[in-house]
Amino acid sequence: MLNFTVGPVQSSETIRKIGYKQVPYFRTPEFSEIMFENERLMKKFAGANKNDRVIFITGSGTASMEAVVMNVFTSYDKVLIVNGGSFGQRFVDLCKIHNISFDEIKLNTGKALKADDLEQYEGKGYTGFLVNIDETSTGVLYDLDLISDFCKRNGIFLVVDAISSFLADEINMTSSNIKVMITGSQKALACPPGISVIVLSEDAVEKINSNQVRSLYFDLKSALKNGERGQTPFTPAVSILLQIHERLKQIELAGGLYTELNRISALASDFRDRIKDLPLDICSESLSNAVTPLSTRNCSAYDIFTILKDEYQIWVCPNGGELKDKVFRVGHLGELSIEDNKILVGALCDLCKKKRLK
Ligand SMILES: *Cc1c(COP(=O)(O)O)cnc(C)c1O
Repeated sequence: MLNFTVGPVQSSETIRKIGYKQVPYFRTPEFSEIMFENERLMKKFAGANKNDRVIFITGSGTASMEAVVMNVFTSYDKVLIVNGGSFGQRFVDLCKIHNISFDEIKLNTGKALKADDLEQYEGKGYTGFLVNIDETSTGVLYDLDLISDFCKRNGIFLVVDAISSFLADEINMTSSNIKVMITGSQKALACPPGISVIVLSEDAVEKINSNQVRSLYFDLKSALKNGERGQTPFTPAVSILLQIHERLKQIELAGGLYTELNRISALASDFRDRIKDLPLDICSESLSNAVTPLSTRNCSAYDIFTILKDEYQIWVCPNGGELKDKVFRVGHLGELSIEDNKILVGALCDLCKKKRLK
């Protein structure tokens, strides 16, 4: 099997071997040390400040999106949400459930966010901005500088879901004045699904500590308090935290953040070069290194996904809803190589010859 989806992605052998071991007891100074190191490296790669904090939630990315909406905002806030696909819609749904007033900037599929789109929201008293910096469902990377400048100018608290972008696209919390950044274990961290990570600025920590939340599991105050001693309030996905630890250390050893960003970006460009002559169109105005969204011309995108899976043992990512027959996505995250790109493109060429991709 060769997995080009956008998560869960392929893990290295070292990471997989950790998953095979017995799960250790975790209320120990040894496990706390590992958690401190996880926090330190996450902060380093996120470009966070010295006093920023990191919370590891046992739950998929959406759990952290929900925890952030609940803990950081209240009914006194008015937030702006960029909604260009299913992950943007998820922030909309979360704000509705938790009674946070919001307005949404709706973008058509594949469209970038432009200065014009933000103009009407200048000086309107928004207190928060929620964005999935790479809207993974459509493969659109929004302009972080544009968003960051808008938020700085208007004094808006910026929350970035970087679940598929962290380690794939350049993000620096300090220079972009990002107050909260979210990621997950099964994207570029290339570990099994089950842990999501919230990096919090000091301002965010302060907001959390002064808000009342009607939830036990998602009350981040207790996570922050326990985190001071390298612990979590409840039993975490211990093995995944150990796998994240190994992966973060490997990235550091291999040369750090930029080496990893360059590796993923090189894989993405290589793939995009190789498909130039195929009857496939890249359908995003602004690409993330994490994923390439492709639209088919005269065949069903979902059929291509099924054929690759069943006949070639290669997984790409199908799209849902209206885009089901039009778009599929190829991810560039996880344990993948140029050789793997050649295998996928070889299979696509084969389908072309057989007039199944047309
Ligand atoms: C993967 C992803 C999520 C989280 O999805 P889960 O299935 O809950 O892990 C959220 N936002 C974006 C942008 C993603 O790519």
